[in-house]
Amino acid sequence: MTRTDVVVVGAGPVGLFLAAELRAGGADAPNVIVLEQLTEPTGESRASILHARTMEIFADRGFLPRLGELPPVGPGHFGGLRLDLAEADPSHPYAGQWECLQHHLETELQAHAVELGAEIRRGHTVTGLRTGDDGVHVEVRGPAADGAPGAAYTIEAAYLAGCDGEHSTVRELGGFTSAGHDADKVMLRADVAGIEIANRRLERFPGGIATAYRRPDGTTRLMVHRFGEQPAGEVTFEQVAAAWAAVTGEDIGHGEARWLNRFGTVSRQVTEYRRGRLLLAGDAAHRQMPVGGQAVNLGLQDAANLGWKLARVATGAAAPALLDTYHSERHPAGARTLANIDAQARLLFGTEDVLALRDVFGELLGQAPVRRHLARMISGLDVTEPPRPERSAPPARLPHTHQPGRSTVDRLTDKTALVTGSSRGIGRATAIRLAREGALVAVHYTANEQAADDTVELIEKEGGSAFTVRAELGVPGDVHELFLGLERGLKERTGDTRLDILVNNAAVTSTGSAPEDLTPEEFDRYFAVNAKAPYFIVQRAIGQMPSGGRIVNLTTGVTRTSVPDQVAYAMTKGAIEQLTFQLARILAPRGITINSVAPGITDNGGAIFDNPQAVEAMSKFSAFNRVGEAGDVADVITFLTTDEARWITGAFIDATGGTLLG
Ligand code: NAP
Repeated sequence: MTRTDVVVVGAGPVGLFLAAELRAGGADAPNVIVLEQLTEPTGESRASILHARTMEIFADRGFLPRLGELPPVGPGHFGGLRLDLAEADPSHPYAGQWECLQHHLETELQAHAVELGAEIRRGHTVTGLRTGDDGVHVEVRGPAADGAPGAAYTIEAAYLAGCDGEHSTVRELGGFTSAGHDADKVMLRADVAGIEIANRRLERFPGGIATAYRRPDGTTRLMVHRFGEQPAGEVTFEQVAAAWAAVTGEDIGHGEARWLNRFGTVSRQVTEYRRGRLLLAGDAAHRQMPVGGQAVNLGLQDAANLGWKLARVATGAAAPALLDTYHSERHPAGARTLANIDAQARLLFGTEDVLALRDVFGELLGQAPVRRHLARMISGLDVTEPPRPERSAPPARLPHTHQPGRSTVDRLTDKTALVTGSSRGIGRATAIRLAREGALVAVHYTANEQAADDTVELIEKEGGSAFTVRAELGVPGDVHELFLGLERGLKERTGDTRLDILVNNAAVTSTGSAPEDLTPEEFDRYFAVNAKAPYFIVQRAIGQMPSGGRIVNLTTGVTRTSVPDQVAYAMTKGAIEQLTFQLARILAPRGITINSVAPGITDNGGAIFDNPQAVEAMSKFSAFNRVGEAGDVADVITFLTTDEARWITGAFIDATGGTLLG
């Protein structure tokens, strides 16, 4: 029996890339065993195209140069209608499509994964799977030797990822269910040597469709579909040659087939990419017509999303819930790709019934925004996923998280936080607590520079890290100014601008005025600072917030109890509560939570809290018969920013000390 952290089943491009991604963390990486039933790579190249997003990912990992100079393939198509993928984004370094034969990709990915420490076992077949609370029990049959069947053995793993293609054993044994439809149209495919025919891309003839592309090695990749014909059984070269002759009128019968294959318009996707300790990626998770190279690119992008998450979870660096974001991010991306492939299949294989639709589509493709939209979709550039966190903490951040003698449980180590209005009051107490937990905190203020500096000094005295950011909120350009300072501060200290935690705390608080006395200017000021600014801060922040991100908006108990002389203030806080409530659904699939915290009367250091009679009168509102301390509220906010609060989103959290009990 063998033990390992992660078993990857399947040594195709997706499995090999996933293994490399899992091992990329060096000494902190999980142990990985890749099981592949084939004893040798086939040498075949079903896939041959890389798209911009995949190229970008490979470049980011430093892997791209290993593939050598990849020739551009030229324009692509949408359902057989010309579409230049380079139009996806003229400024993108890899816009377009790039030829990279699958066997070359596999050879390099395997070498890469092995160098990073993955163990690859060829000729090993998964025969059974059992998942329990602590791990996955994998039954394996080793390679046959001298005519004798291979020896059976077991592996105990924490997690197992099935990257074993369209006929996935893991999908079958793991009890995954798929939705979609089977193929109703079939295309024959062959690599043929010894023929001289013109290159053509999905050319339509009266009797069918034909593609020919001469490869650098002298073979020609053919694809042919005869309208109304559904060839079944083993594909033979005679069958391909007959279909080719019938569609194009050309004789290729003297050629020599190097590879024969058939594919159809299947469109099926598993309903869950994760079932507990089992995960699926690539064709094991989604089966689709391999049009324009989208299948392999989609699978490689699955692996890029899953790799770092599974590595962190398998080594205990992150909670298993992180793996749910793999499903919530990649399932929609897969569904979108399958939908565009389905649409293309209809345009491609339809006969008279689709000609009008093709004409309309052709007209639409005459427009640059349409071409750009579709090119971005096919290239994978319209999928926005939270970025992969840095693998190791940048050196500038290390000292503050490991100060001896600091009282901390470090629940926020390596996180970055912005607390608006943290020069004083609840904001300051929150900044101090977040820093105690290990976060690097941006202390925002507008007028009280000294108070903001004092907050930073208090944090640094405790061994934490913080810096100040000045920006007046509620005036034109406020959010831009705030983020200029924030990003500069983050970049200097961490090397990037990732923001994990946002606390929208700054506000114009109400001193109370009768509703009839409120001026339009005062009303506008309340809304500009308390509602509009937080909205656009959130809008801007989520662009740089990774999965696991946290947003906390400060509201007030006054939205739940009638205090007429604070009507405008209460209205702004009602708006903040709606911001929380409405955005929670949008942010949840990205692994980000957003909540509102409502303090009651809380000592923010204001003059009134020095008046014993006033404090006694205010104490009566709380069930605990005292006014709140800023720390009482800050502790609640801090909890919401930790992983322990991952299951709370869209909530109104009453931190009024029981004031709302009545
Ligand atoms: P506070 O002591 O009055 O502090 C306000 C903070 O916001 C300060 O850091 C201030 O910066 C900043 N700020 C105010 N206006 C700003 C503007 N226009 N632009 C940029 N920054 C601005 O606040 P608090 O009493 O701790 O309240 C914090 C949050 O809790 C607020 O959202 C408030 O509505 C809510 N709340 C408080 C209580 C309470 O009893 N304290 C009760 C319910 C709800 P400067 O220092 O530079 O001025």
